[in-house]
Amino acid sequence: MALLNILRYPDPRLHKVAKPVTEFGARLEQLAADMAETMYEAPGVGLAATQVDVHERVVLVDVSETHDALTVFVNPEIVWASDEKQVYDEGCLSVPGIYDGVERPARVKVRAQDIKGQFFEVDCDGLLAVCIQHEMDHLNGKVFVEYLSPLKRNRIKNKLLKEERGMERDAQMRAAAGRR
Ligand code: ZN
Repeated sequence: MALLNILRYPDPRLHKVAKPVTEFGARLEQLAADMAETMYEAPGVGLAATQVDVHERVVLVDVSETHDALTVFVNPEIVWASDEKQVYDEGCLSVPGIYDGVERPARVKVRAQDIKGQFFEVDCDGLLAVCIQHEMDHLNGKVFVEYLSPLKRNRIKNKLLKEERGMERDAQMRAAAGRR
């Protein structure tokens, strides 16, 4: 198993549209295992392959507090959504430190394949409904900040770019110190 690098907004690779998975086997199992390790380490309740720069339709979700209810959704589709909406303060491993309200259908039915290619359906509500819709957006190249106003989105973008420059500067200083 290996920890994968999580892309940070506004990395343009987060806007790629993921391709359907057609091959089920050891490679997919390894990807899911690495993604699970990365998600739990972060820690997060969901991770889409897009976020680790793999542009295939694979999503992992575990909204349990005990971290023992992992579901792998391969090629997920929303086959039903409630008219009723809910607003939830969402966060994202690709947008660290930012939380903001997003309105989505309160309940959805998702059809997907498991790691072996078997189809299953699951009725989602509460945090699970929020999480699966958020992760499926990633597969379509959409990050949750795109639901926010352009003003808020720009503020977030600038904040994250500034942090990134800070991290690069720190790394350079550490490298320079190491050479002395
Ligand atoms: Zn996310």
